[in-house]
Amino acid sequence: MHPFRYARPSSLAEAVALLDEHGPQAQIIAGGTDLVIGLRDRTLEPDVVIDLKRIPDLEPRIRLVDGRLVISAGTVMSDIESDATIAELFTALAESAAVVGSVQIRNRATLAGNICNASPAADTAPPLLVHRAEVVAFGPRGARRIPIREFFVRSRQTTLQRGELVTAVELPLPDRRTGDSYVRLTRRRGTDLASITMCCAVDASGSTRLAYGSVGPKPLVFADESGVLADPAAPDEAKAPILETMLAEASPSAGSVRASPEYRLAMLPVLAMRALHTALGRLGGGQVR
Ligand SMILES: Cc1cc2nc3c(=O)[nH]c(=O)nc-3n(C[C@H](O)[C@H](O)[C@H](O)COP(=O)(O)OP(=O)(O)OC[C@H]3O[C@@H](n4cnc5c(N)ncnc54)[C@H](O)[C@@H]3O)c2cc1C
Repeated sequence: MHPFRYARPSSLAEAVALLDEHGPQAQIIAGGTDLVIGLRDRTLEPDVVIDLKRIPDLEPRIRLVDGRLVISAGTVMSDIESDATIAELFTALAESAAVVGSVQIRNRATLAGNICNASPAADTAPPLLVHRAEVVAFGPRGARRIPIREFFVRSRQTTLQRGELVTAVELPLPDRRTGDSYVRLTRRRGTDLASITMCCAVDASGSTRLAYGSVGPKPLVFADESGVLADPAAPDEAKAPILETMLAEASPSAGSVRASPEYRLAMLPVLAMRALHTALGRLGGGQVR
């Protein structure tokens, strides 16, 4: 492991000053479940590692504020998985948090770390995209909000600027009845990164949103307003071509060890239809296929 300085700031201002001073030579440690692997295999060789756990503003907290659900940067997957409000209003987010790694990983891994690491396979990314989450960043010029669809660039790269860190992730509360669902494809049951991540949300106005990942450099989101996907009476034959269009930008890498591009592309419509049916079942409160 490359030697580095360890810093444990006690305020946001102190953390931002360190990040701004060291730029790309600084790395944040939250749960460390991605970072420590990078340090160990030397894909990351920072001069300074900045531990956020002593900063009161970032302590684990899930709150409802002015029509938004605010999840602080220190909140871990097991908090999200077990939160009653998230389970009711953002079921897919709870489902995605519940499949990250193992119990031990979920007790350490933060939501903020999951999106800042920006793996295309990050499980929480599709539900955050479908629910139009915003990332709250704080940096040398103060706070700003970044729509999650503008946050991801590619693996380990986001649109955070020099000196910025994430303080929270916020989700607007749905203004109409919504059913959502998260599914993923893995090589095996148990601890494994996804070969495909997929989230679908359908609302009572007939709007459908579909987000997916692990099939390109970053997770993607698309919307359909035709009403066909949201119509429980419409046959799968009518829905399939619309889903195909929404999946057209998938570009899985041939170099991935987890699954071939052919397999991922063949499975994408299967998962999309599965996620859609579950979301529709939840919207109607009826049988889920
Ligand atoms: C065995 C194992 C299994 C795993 N399984 C899964 C899985 O199934 N699905 C999945 O999605 N992930 C999985 N992961 C990856 C990992 O657990 C998640 O990405 C986790 O959410 C990262 O959060 P963390 O708090 O540990 O981040 P850290 O490792 O502390 O940080 C990750 C990156 O984010 C940056 N960062 C962290 N917090 C902030 C912040 N507030 N502001 C700005 N930058 C920040 C750090 O600088 C670093 O670059 C697994 C990891 C392991 C080791």
